[in-house]
Amino acid sequence: MISDSFGRPLTSMRISITQRCNLNCIYCHREGVFGESSREMTPQEISRIVRIASGLGVKKVKITGGEPLIRGDVCDIVEGIAGVEGISDVSMTTNGVFLQEYAERLKEAGLNRVNISLDTLRPDVFSMITRGGKLEKVIAGIDEAVRVGLDPIKLNMVVMKGINDDEIQEMIKTYSRNGVVLQLIELVDSDKEFFHKYYFDLDRIEEEIADKARNVRVRKHMQGRKKYTLNGAQVEVIKPMHNTEFCAHCTRLRVTADGKFKPCLMRQDNLVDFLKEMRAGADDNRIRELFMKAVMRREPYFTR
Ligand code: SAM
Repeated sequence: MISDSFGRPLTSMRISITQRCNLNCIYCHREGVFGESSREMTPQEISRIVRIASGLGVKKVKITGGEPLIRGDVCDIVEGIAGVEGISDVSMTTNGVFLQEYAERLKEAGLNRVNISLDTLRPDVFSMITRGGKLEKVIAGIDEAVRVGLDPIKLNMVVMKGINDDEIQEMIKTYSRNGVVLQLIELVDSDKEFFHKYYFDLDRIEEEIADKARNVRVRKHMQGRKKYTLNGAQVEVIKPMHNTEFCAHCTRLRVTADGKFKPCLMRQDNLVDFLKEMRAGADDNRIRELFMKAVMRREPYFTR
């Protein structure tokens, strides 16, 4: 296993497989990638980068986008990653719109678990947040993911002041079923004006949940995050903003859809392009060097 210059082991990769998305959420940070690129990695290129990363100690891969399920070859991508020796956990984050048709095939291809974005249970609010999305498609996708046994299913709810902060209790009530975890996520700053208008501090909500919880589990390797069990629901609160602990325990290297290593969600200035060299015929040793270059560029973003 390798560690960066701050002693943080590098054990996971978050790979974006496309920048394209069928929704256009008002708050989306686009995984920290701005500007367009039409270049996308093939399933073979993705498997190759995962194989090289696995040889350097990466064990977990999360597939993201854009929206991963708009790629017709998404099952091949999952199968390729799941087949790499040393990868023990393959997950995906999706908006869930196409999950009803894909869940079974994804499971068969080797997907272990899934995160589904669900910020609201009100169809009109969903349509406003996603600029036109249909809530019922996502709900059907969640049901299908439960049916085929993707486990755990995590629902990502980005909490925004005046938009959905009054829906937390309803969300907890609705999704208090086995195998589903509700993640309350703090809004991450990607647009200053939006952030100042809609940022919602989750501290008070977390205190309320902690008071009512029957069981609290501290997740040592997940930034000390706590998982609460209350009324049969499992709830996690994720607060990355200005959180030194979050950065101090980051184990992740990002890969952009156009084939660059991205050392930090919050920074655009330190990416390392590997796809260009891969396509020019670089061997695994050279790609390993580029991987290490990116790892050595990793720095905690919030330090105080
Ligand atoms: N389309 C996929 C999805 O909906 O999961 C994958 C890409 S999306 C960028 C990945 C996750 O980032 C989603 O759960 C989304 O809610 C979250 N996200 C996007 N912008 C965010 C922001 N400004 N603050 C916090 N989370 C955000």
